[in-house]
Amino acid sequence: MTIALHGMGVSRGIAIGKVHIVKRDQLDIRKYSIKQHLIDDEIKRFENAVTNAQQQLRAIREHIPESTSADIEGFIDTHLLMLGDVALTEEPMRLIKELACNAEWALKLQRDALVVVFDEMDDAYLRTRKDDVDYVVNHIQRLLLNQTPLQHEKPDQKLSGYIVMANDLTPADTVLMQHHGIAAFATESGGPTSHTAILARSLGIPAIVGLQNALRYIKEDDELILDGVRGIILVDPDRHALSDYHRLQKEERRYYTKLGKLKNKPAVTIDGVLVDLQANIELPKDFETVVEVGAQGVGLYRTEFLYMNRESPPDEEEHYVAYTKVIEVLNGLPLTIRTLDLGADKQVDGGRQSGPVINNPALGLRAIRLCLKEPALFRPQLRAIIRASVHGPVRIMIPMLSNIHEMQQVLQMIEDIKKELDVLAIPYDHELQIGGMIEVPAAAVCADIFAQQLDFLSIGTNDLIQYTMAIDRVNDEVNYLYDPLNPAVLRLIHTTIKAGEKETIPVAMCGEMAGETKYTRLLLGLGLRVFSVHPATLLEVKQIVIDSNIGDLEALAKKALKAKSGIEVANIMRKGEV
Ligand code: PEP
Ligand code: MG
Repeated sequence: MTIALHGMGVSRGIAIGKVHIVKRDQLDIRKYSIKQHLIDDEIKRFENAVTNAQQQLRAIREHIPESTSADIEGFIDTHLLMLGDVALTEEPMRLIKELACNAEWALKLQRDALVVVFDEMDDAYLRTRKDDVDYVVNHIQRLLLNQTPLQHEKPDQKLSGYIVMANDLTPADTVLMQHHGIAAFATESGGPTSHTAILARSLGIPAIVGLQNALRYIKEDDELILDGVRGIILVDPDRHALSDYHRLQKEERRYYTKLGKLKNKPAVTIDGVLVDLQANIELPKDFETVVEVGAQGVGLYRTEFLYMNRESPPDEEEHYVAYTKVIEVLNGLPLTIRTLDLGADKQVDGGRQSGPVINNPALGLRAIRLCLKEPALFRPQLRAIIRASVHGPVRIMIPMLSNIHEMQQVLQMIEDIKKELDVLAIPYDHELQIGGMIEVPAAAVCADIFAQQLDFLSIGTNDLIQYTMAIDRVNDEVNYLYDPLNPAVLRLIHTTIKAGEKETIPVAMCGEMAGETKYTRLLLGLGLRVFSVHPATLLEVKQIVIDSNIGDLEALAKKALKAKSGIEVANIMRKGEV
């Protein structure tokens, strides 16, 4: 009998094949005493296990394919760092000595102590760190207990074509499995932003997470269908399901092959309107993907990563070097550098800063507000961008503008820096363009004022929707109100696009809405001509652009703007009748 299990599809694609279950049994850690004269040997045994774990992780790290996203390396680096951290290495050794106990027990005690600290912190970022601690501890424990490696950890195992299921998978598991050529994976735990989900997407492997208790219904070698779009697993599928899914799989392959061919095609609609498709980038390593998908440039370069995991902010030179490298990779494609957008959902240290408790961080001192309050943080970045502009087409983009004074202050700072550079005869691009993000309803309503003084606008829908609907974008409980099609949101987008048209400056959209293909036709109809999206979705958006007729869509969008609800807007677009 076929059983259907539902989870969260986090990486699209269909896989059909047998299942391999990865089971990390609960380790049975017991305490035993060590005689005084053997304590040094026990410490040595612990040290050896740590060294072995480090060697194994380094070997995995070396096998990460060049093309893989920086995330994977980052995860494994975090584990390597932990393996070198005194909390996990020296403290257990001290406990072995003090309690005259075995290494496994000392490590368990230290793990329990660390987890209590993490649990008390009640913070999403730190919770993931807790999982990392558990992974590293488990790795050392298994070495101490001489446990045989799991199947996917053995280099000669044949897992090619298998769908891997586990309670949870670690980044190292994922890398090893990719080597074995697995078809897909699924986990009982995890959400859309879990390590597994992020890695699956960057490896292009279909995946589902959050399949609670699924392992109760699945046994080794069962036949499965995994649908990464719908988040469904069919266990022991019948003939009809198999033939349906084989057909869907073929269609999907044809679709992606066809998409790949669009790379060098211009994004022109049926009625000849050229659309500019740009990429959103977060890490320098991802810049190669911009060129790979044939993006026309970078419409949003989030620079917060430069400030992450460090004690003091980067200096001007560090900024300059980072931007210059990126400009080189882009080889003439325009680069839009968004100035620092820290605060609220973007904390550099997981929100552990000291100071007063902020009740509404999203409404607080973030992005341009923080930068203007702390010029020592902001000025080096601005100066570096301006200097880097001599190497290629660069644009400055200011996040979260809410009134004209903020914009004027930034423009003045830029003018002052240019004067300084002139005095020092330091070259820069005198045509350097400056734009602003429309993310606050106040700025959208007054987009005409900003359009008069800026060279371009870019609509940040992630924040614009948050502020328009008065919902915290990271609060699951009010997620249901996060509706890009809400008439208020649509009107603000439309107002902004019209303001740009009036002043003949480009208006882009760089929030997630721009990359969601279900909204592409509506946005084209509303007049959007510059989309900045995650490189992974760029070609899909291009396909829709190529299949669209702006004349028809403008009429539809006009009707959609009169709708009373998001549902009505969706219906209008789906029916496609004017
Ligand atoms: C946005 O708010 O839409 C945006 C692109 O900025 P971020 O998601 O980085 O806040
Ligand atoms: Mg934003």
